[in-house]
Amino acid sequence: MNQKTTRRQFFKKASLISLATLPLSALAQTNSVDPSTKLKVICVGGHPDDPESGCGGTLAKFSAKGHDVKILYLTRGEGGIEGKSANEAANIRTKEAEAACVILNVQHAFLGQVDGNTVVNNEWITKMTEFMENEKPDLVFTQWPIDSHIDHQAASMLTMQAGLRTKKKFQIYFYEVCAGEQTMTFHPTDYVDISNEQETKRKALFCHVSQDPVGIYACGHEAMEKFRGMEAGVPAAEAFVKMNGKNSPSSIL
Ligand SMILES: [Zn+2]
Repeated sequence: MNQKTTRRQFFKKASLISLATLPLSALAQTNSVDPSTKLKVICVGGHPDDPESGCGGTLAKFSAKGHDVKILYLTRGEGGIEGKSANEAANIRTKEAEAACVILNVQHAFLGQVDGNTVVNNEWITKMTEFMENEKPDLVFTQWPIDSHIDHQAASMLTMQAGLRTKKKFQIYFYEVCAGEQTMTFHPTDYVDISNEQETKRKALFCHVSQDPVGIYACGHEAMEKFRGMEAGVPAAEAFVKMNGKNSPSSIL
């Protein structure tokens, strides 16, 4: 303990480090009644609807336990509505995302990139890093990089690069969307039981009216929840890949 760290700060930091290294399934059960165990959780997604469909149940669960949860959308879904201009689509999809976040009881922010035209370069790595420096998350969910959509890949790459640069380390978990069609070669390391949050997740996803929510579920999300639940031994689950290595919180022990 250095002289600048108070005893209370030391124990808070130590408890968060050990918490963040717990299996995600255990972490999702932790309660934040004690402020020293309150976690800051960020979920990064390429478009409005990606965080909701990939890990909406998990985000609702962390929020219900009293943790601080925020979704960061890389774009506003500018390219996602046929027959609408980029501005019109962005306005519609921003409202849909806001409504979904109210249902999940999470905060949200937009990083300012454009759907279908996302960029991974030093400028945007810096912007993502600054966002994370300001938020100081303990856990960050982001999209899996082996994905058919370039915006999902961008969300993933920018998160990983920010994780290597922030002073405060955070634990990254990758989530899947539309397995087989978008997310590929995904072998989970962690599961979160969302049996009790499935309905909340469905309601949040159905806020994205412009994206054909029935189709989103039909394209595999319902089957994913069921199949991941079978793997985890519960009625419904969401699956994650934990990123180990240099940006893992355990590296600062
Ligand atoms: Zn997407």
